[in-house]
Amino acid sequence: MEKNTLLNRVLGLFYPPRCVWCHCFLKGTEKRDRVCRTCKTSLPVFNREERPQVLPELDSCISLMEYTGKVRQSILRYKFSGLSFYSSIYTDLMISILEKEEYACDIVTWVPLSRKRLRSRGYDQAKLLAEGFAEKAGLDCELLLKKIRNTAPQSGTGSRAERKTNIRDAYIPLYENKIVGKTILLMDDIVTTGSTLSECARILKDAGAKQVRALTLARTDLQTLGMEKP
Ligand SMILES: [Zn+2]
Repeated sequence: MEKNTLLNRVLGLFYPPRCVWCHCFLKGTEKRDRVCRTCKTSLPVFNREERPQVLPELDSCISLMEYTGKVRQSILRYKFSGLSFYSSIYTDLMISILEKEEYACDIVTWVPLSRKRLRSRGYDQAKLLAEGFAEKAGLDCELLLKKIRNTAPQSGTGSRAERKTNIRDAYIPLYENKIVGKTILLMDDIVTTGSTLSECARILKDAGAKQVRALTLARTDLQTLGMEKP
């Protein structure tokens, strides 16, 4: 958590701290956690039974919370409004809630952005989550995939079949010596249809990974999008 330096106090005058989730202005001790009292007890966090889902190529896929309401608004600010420090609050929450066996692995990696998108955004939101999470969990973290094709954003493409075609062969494996025989934890901020995570898992398994498990901060309820589960 952030230190109460003079710079932060000065910045606080111009940018009073807001809740990471609902974006309300924070009071007193709420400022330290960056979370308001209401959000502390009302986030749409899944219970243990609700967290896993079955997706092709993945040995498990765990998500912490539902991608809805203030969680969705928060992640959109994290990705598109430069609020990269949110990753630290997100990974604190993941560590405090998840059980160790849900993320047991040899190495943590993430679904990388294309070079073009990284340039326009300035940071890779999945990388920040993976690095922060791995550090707090005492795990190794490495870039193991490279995006070689700039695909249309998955959020803007239609059906499951279209998403699958859009993403096919968009990634290649890196450092195969770190992949062979390993259980890899693949992280991303959200999972919608799972096409991207499944494709990345397929690539890692083709490169020799023993198991690929996925971990995301949030998961879209496909029924609210009018889509079927795989
Ligand atoms: Zn709040």
